[in-house]
Amino acid sequence: MCLFCDIVAGKIPSDKVYENEYVLCFNDINPVTPVHVLVVPKKHFDNINELASDPEGALYSAEITKAIAEAAKIKGISEGFRTINNCGEDGGQSVMHVHFHVLGGTKFTEKIV
Ligand code: 5GP
Ligand code: ZN
Repeated sequence: MCLFCDIVAGKIPSDKVYENEYVLCFNDINPVTPVHVLVVPKKHFDNINELASDPEGALYSAEITKAIAEAAKIKGISEGFRTINNCGEDGGQSVMHVHFHVLGGTKFTEKIV
């Protein structure tokens, strides 16, 4: 079992923002912006490559997209936020269960892209 599978299973507590059958959204333990939510599929996929190639990948991808918008709405940042996915070691991924960072509550001035 991985860390986020344990959080999804409730074995490790999390500060829940939103949940449905497919996803769990919770506050990052080490926020880098005033709003920093992690959107995590309840099914384990190592990363976005595995999410893309899995038979259920399209379903979970759609649910992740909807959950990102829902989490942003709940947090009051729908008008502007940034979503990041780190993929693999070179991408800076540290928890190998695919997840999307939803960052906001601030005006981003620096851009990577
Ligand atoms: P990554 O570096 O894989 O893109 O992002 C992993 C994120 O998970 C980091 O932002 C880190 O702060 C967060 N994180 C790691 N362990 C925990 C935990 O136990 N609970 C919560 N809520 N977030 C965690
Ligand atoms: Zn997992």
